[in-house]
Amino acid sequence: MAVDGGRRAAREPVAVVTGGASGIGRAVVADLAAHGYRVAVLDRDLPEDRGIPEDRDGDRVRWVAGDVRDPEAHDRVVDLARSRFGGLDLFVGNAGVHDGGIGVRDLDGAALAEVARHVLDVDVVGYLLGARAAAGPLADSGGSMVFTLSDASYLVRGNGAGIAYAAAKHAALGVVRHLAADLAPAVRVNAVAPGGVVTGLRTADGRHVFAGADEITAAVRELNPLGVVLRPEQIAPLYRLLASPAAAGMTGEVLRPDGGLSVR
Ligand code: NAD
Repeated sequence: MAVDGGRRAAREPVAVVTGGASGIGRAVVADLAAHGYRVAVLDRDLPEDRGIPEDRDGDRVRWVAGDVRDPEAHDRVVDLARSRFGGLDLFVGNAGVHDGGIGVRDLDGAALAEVARHVLDVDVVGYLLGARAAAGPLADSGGSMVFTLSDASYLVRGNGAGIAYAAAKHAALGVVRHLAADLAPAVRVNAVAPGGVVTGLRTADGRHVFAGADEITAAVRELNPLGVVLRPEQIAPLYRLLASPAAAGMTGEVLRPDGGLSVR
């Protein structure tokens, strides 16, 4: 089955998804599995229920427990994709943590450094390490990468992001653009930058960002011109689109399902 504008693979397409145990990542895993992909997931916290409705034969999705800050964890999940499913066509870098909206004067220096290092390590270094592990196999298959950015890759006020999360998501945009230039023409690299999506997103110290979900969804709705709060399932097909022949001419691009924040 062809998965890209590049070479054709005789086998079914294969993806690696980081942070695929919850929220947007889990919806991406389900969407890919429902559309013919085999998927290897890397996540720190595997869900108790590892089945997804689309994984009817129990064989489409495989799970690896590991931390995206650990280079070997990425090697393990890429090795699993290749040994179990026969190759790699798509790498989705998605695992992330939030900073809880901290301002630069909210914490003492040591605490600020700890939060900032954790968020930058997961949301930026985790993406670099994934790209490093996946680049070779993707060049072999003519595949692509898709990363999860955020409205915080562009906005700095009003969206709940603090200074560390804004820094990380701005930096992740730089990662996407650099990789797109670096890996062309062998591997395309694109991104999806959602606005507020109610998920299990946590802060570096483990608090749920959407704990007061009603209040937060009202704020998200108020912020964007379309007045929407998207569900992970609504965003997931965009990842598959960016990996498909329809996007064969796109690299270094970002799709922004954020209710129109750029024209606010
Ligand atoms: P989520 O918490 O539901 O999913 C994130 C997943 O990443 C979890 O399964 C978590 O276990 C995993 N993870 C976190 N740290 C990890 C680590 N060190 N190693 C391995 N796995 C780790 O949250 P989500 O909202 O689905 O977040 C997915 C991505 O979407 C993140 O990059 C986030 O920044 C981004 N994002 C979210 C929103 C939103 O409103 N929810 C908006 C824009 C962008």
